[in-house]
Amino acid sequence: MRHDPSGGNAVTRRRAVLLAAGPLLLAAVLLSTVRAGEAEKTAAPAMKVFDLHCDTVYQGVKKGWELKGGKGAVTIPKMRKGGVMAQTFALWTPKTGTWAFLQKLHRKFESWMQESGGDIELAVSGDEIDDIASRGRIAAVLSVEGLSPLGGDLEKIPVLHGWGVRILGLVWMKSNEIAGSSTDPDPAKRTGLTEKGRKAVAMANDLGMVIDVSHASDEAVRDVAGLSSDPIIASHSCAKALRDHPRNLSDDLLELIASKGGVVGVNFYTTYLSDAPAKTVGRKTVVDHILHMVKIMGVDHVALGSDFDGAKTPVGLKTAAQHQLLAKDLLDSGLSHEDVAKIMGGNALRVFRQVTVL
Ligand SMILES: [Zn+2]
Repeated sequence: MRHDPSGGNAVTRRRAVLLAAGPLLLAAVLLSTVRAGEAEKTAAPAMKVFDLHCDTVYQGVKKGWELKGGKGAVTIPKMRKGGVMAQTFALWTPKTGTWAFLQKLHRKFESWMQESGGDIELAVSGDEIDDIASRGRIAAVLSVEGLSPLGGDLEKIPVLHGWGVRILGLVWMKSNEIAGSSTDPDPAKRTGLTEKGRKAVAMANDLGMVIDVSHASDEAVRDVAGLSSDPIIASHSCAKALRDHPRNLSDDLLELIASKGGVVGVNFYTTYLSDAPAKTVGRKTVVDHILHMVKIMGVDHVALGSDFDGAKTPVGLKTAAQHQLLAKDLLDSGLSHEDVAKIMGGNALRVFRQVTVL
């Protein structure tokens, strides 16, 4: 038998340590239990995510953020952890924007694709997303948020198509040559599509580009829905019935988008989700908006549009790594696995596939 030089046995010594560290240890045990709970959630089989909107490219240009890792909410490691199949990257120009700045954003996006060594690849059709996913890689979808940088020159729309842009957001915070914005400082300018806007819709239809009505005025959403021969989307918008904000969509407009076969990507931006202080808004509020849209639109028409790297998002939904926590919350709310899979990515993929095939 081995002699214990310190006297007493090992069990007694451990007990003494446990007693001394009692309260601290209890806290640590509780914390690790909570963390284990979160870990279990992330360990569940991943739902394939198709996020319809993020502003990460802008952060790459302005702050030097990288896609391969680091600060951003959308990085390759975070997307992998969160089960992202397809991530839409918006080329977003602040204020009215310029064509030169849009080109700069595009060059940043291109350099990210090249630097990734194939971890992420541009996809311009549903089949390409399938192919990229089947090779264990992430599909990048390119969108433009607001057509102000075109300065009314519609011939630049085919140029965007040539870059691989397949989602076309007509307008941002201020009305432009194409359409009225829901938040134009002058409410009288929150008008519908202009004549150029009507042409732009026809061009997008001809080219197989998905028209995105997030930020468009209510009248412009109705105009686009009336005119487009394809389903339309609102890539990152919330439900006005739960949060009365001009950027959000009324039940009538939600129904209209569903009736066209389109989808609405629920925005994670706390300001659009709730009028409560941002730090008190959690994932539950996102679930509430999703469930409301499911009720109004049907489960085939609800999707995700995180607005990551462009907006303050809820507690517990700060990065692309946390998408599966939202999927678990949706399952816990009573939705079936099949329905949650549609919301997390299936619906967005369906519309993207349908519109981009010519
Ligand atoms: Zn936006």
